[in-house]
Amino acid sequence: MSETTIESILQEKRLFAPCSEFSQNANIKSFAEYQQLYEQSISDPEGFWANLAETELDWFQKWDRVLDWQPPFAKWFVNGKINISYNCLDRHLTTWRKNKAAIIWEGEPGDSRTLTYAQLHREVCQMANVFKQLGVKKGDRVGIYMPMIPEAAIAMLACARIGAPHSVVFGGFSAEALKARLQDAEAKLVVTADGGFRKDKVVPLKDALDEALSNNGVPSVENVLVVQRTKQTINMQEGRDHWWHELHAQASINCPPEPMDSEDLLFILYTSGTTGKPKGVVHTTGGYNLYTHITTKWAFDLKDTDVYWCTADVGWITGHSYIVYGPLSNGATSLMYEGAPRASNPGCFWDVIEKYGVTIFYTAPTAIRAFIKMGDEHPNARDLSSLRILGTVGEPINPEAWMWYHKVIGGERCPIVDTWWQTETGGFMITPLPGATSTKPGSATRPFPGIIADVVDLEGNSVGNNQGGYLVIKHPWPSMMRTVYKDDDRFRRTYWEHILPKNGKYLYFAGDGARKDEDGYFWIMGRVDDVMNISGHRIGTMEVESALVSHPAVAEAAVVGRPDELKGEDVYAFVTLEGSYQPSEALKEELKKHVVKEIGAIARPGEIRFADALPKTRSGKIIRRFLRNLAAGQELVGDISTMEDLSVLDKLREGA
Ligand code: ATP
Ligand code: MG
Repeated sequence: MSETTIESILQEKRLFAPCSEFSQNANIKSFAEYQQLYEQSISDPEGFWANLAETELDWFQKWDRVLDWQPPFAKWFVNGKINISYNCLDRHLTTWRKNKAAIIWEGEPGDSRTLTYAQLHREVCQMANVFKQLGVKKGDRVGIYMPMIPEAAIAMLACARIGAPHSVVFGGFSAEALKARLQDAEAKLVVTADGGFRKDKVVPLKDALDEALSNNGVPSVENVLVVQRTKQTINMQEGRDHWWHELHAQASINCPPEPMDSEDLLFILYTSGTTGKPKGVVHTTGGYNLYTHITTKWAFDLKDTDVYWCTADVGWITGHSYIVYGPLSNGATSLMYEGAPRASNPGCFWDVIEKYGVTIFYTAPTAIRAFIKMGDEHPNARDLSSLRILGTVGEPINPEAWMWYHKVIGGERCPIVDTWWQTETGGFMITPLPGATSTKPGSATRPFPGIIADVVDLEGNSVGNNQGGYLVIKHPWPSMMRTVYKDDDRFRRTYWEHILPKNGKYLYFAGDGARKDEDGYFWIMGRVDDVMNISGHRIGTMEVESALVSHPAVAEAAVVGRPDELKGEDVYAFVTLEGSYQPSEALKEELKKHVVKEIGAIARPGEIRFADALPKTRSGKIIRRFLRNLAAGQELVGDISTMEDLSVLDKLREGA
């Protein structure tokens, strides 16, 4: 085993084939069809993408070149003119979809709204006209700091309509984090709300924005547009702050879409900050529109009869690509939900599915683990029979959590699409196509057509089957990030200089370890930053965590390497327990034995710590870098702004 690869110890053999009735009706109907598309996409990538761009999207002017690749900088559909809000709205208005629900929205307190394509178009045009009235021109950046209400999507589409790049900042971020992001983007306008409802509390968004802007904190900001949501008392600064409902009433409903260059900046968005300081990822227009459109259509097998629900927040890439742009470009019905499962309403997600007859449900492993902990009685008490496809994204899903999702939520009939991708990739990279791909619990399966993924060592050589290594992409794709905002150098360093093939080829690497099995299926093994080195064996976090989670007592597990004189590093496991189990020394011993039985003595945890909760990003991912500090008895190092709940670490430290 070379120093530059990762060892794999977990073997998962279960296989689930799509049922024939599902496949017959699917957009991509068989594995053979997938393979044919894949072959085509690899033998003639430019022809493949050009054909889709032509048939799936509307352009104001055709491109003269499909791809201009000056590594690591790519341009797609060079000189093509397009507007993504046109593709998401206007083009549906001349069809029967005009009066189809574009957005179904459910508020946390139980209020709801439905916007048809015609209504959404009208709202977007009006907001775009208000932006113009407030001095926003093509190229000016707009900050969006919103709760999960339709106006968040309306603001994004309004930006796209007039060519003003948006930078959405998740509504759970603090004033400090908001300020840093608005400064970086040099936003001219910020769209916010008085507040939002989150887990039975009112989140004071406008107050946080006031704090971020105080003492001329973000000098570029000239105006603030405030949507009324909670009706709490807020401060409105004369001349700077404007109520949306007041300007809305007088705004014209006509706003022609700005013809944008395919490579014009569409948005800036920061990564989750799981491994360090977030990166300001830049996405442009044409390629992003195409890739999010086609991945939604094929990986979710989208049909006009679907009610599609992605539970992410619009503040993350998942919300951008798979609540707003991908579904709307397809003319789908996209459900938006303001609430979140909480002690007072642990079954709220299942209520929403039952109420609207949701057919496609897309969520994250962190949520699935939380549902498991809350108990099966909640989903079991609802009618979930409308569901036909389940999706997951954000972290590797432990096979046992996958099985629970499959059985309890999917009733053993819904294919699970485990989508591996990143803020940087814009859309799904490795994912099943539900009518075509047999699934294996814990594997994101195969690359999407057009994506050449591989597992390599540090010199870029492919490693063998079932050997872990670095997950890379070997050819540009339409929705790849174009750069780090205002920092080409960081872009180059972060993504293109880790793996250096001798032949000088550029490989895209964004930090994950993986292995490819004998069937060509990819298994994400966790972040390479988190790889442990136990007695010379380099082991990823995912497999040890999955072994722990497969014990009935364990709800969630995070493992890190702790410096050890003998072994170099020792496995240190943080574990949260299922509701009915109590921490004890005996249980620790049992869990250690369980890991040995599941994957071998090499991974036996030297120490197990029970915790009430694990440190997570605001997007719900376990942050291991702090646990590593904690296990080694060191002070915490690195960016803490993206952490959801700082008290989790204090509690872990107290209990040390
Ligand atoms: P940062 O880059 O700032 O550390 P982040 O990587 O968490 O944060 P995102 O772009 O939100 O930021 O997340 C992408 C990462 O999430 C991937 O690199 C991968 O580690 C993980 N991920 C996403 N989907 C999956 C999946 N289906 N299976 C395994 N891991 C996944
Ligand atoms: Mg990342």
